[in-house]
Amino acid sequence: MILRNGGFVLRINELLLKDRDVVRAVIIHELVHMRLKSRWHNDKFYSMLFTYIDEEEYWRLYERMNEIVADHLIQRLRQQRQR
Ligand SMILES: [Zn+2]
Repeated sequence: MILRNGGFVLRINELLLKDRDVVRAVIIHELVHMRLKSRWHNDKFYSMLFTYIDEEEYWRLYERMNEIVADHLIQRLRQQRQR
């Protein structure tokens, strides 16, 4: 996240910390935002991103990240139903 004063804050969902490859992909993603000083996901963003991480690997990790978050949400819904 880029701050108004030009600073930068990198926030990572705690759930993702269990997978180091996902963490690496998230950090690279955020560093590209920082380098471009932009929060947009446009062609320029992706072309720089894929100089730091293989495109196929990135999308595989992106999918894994979504699975981690989805599994967590499904578990929470199940727990709520059991109450
Ligand atoms: Zn982004």
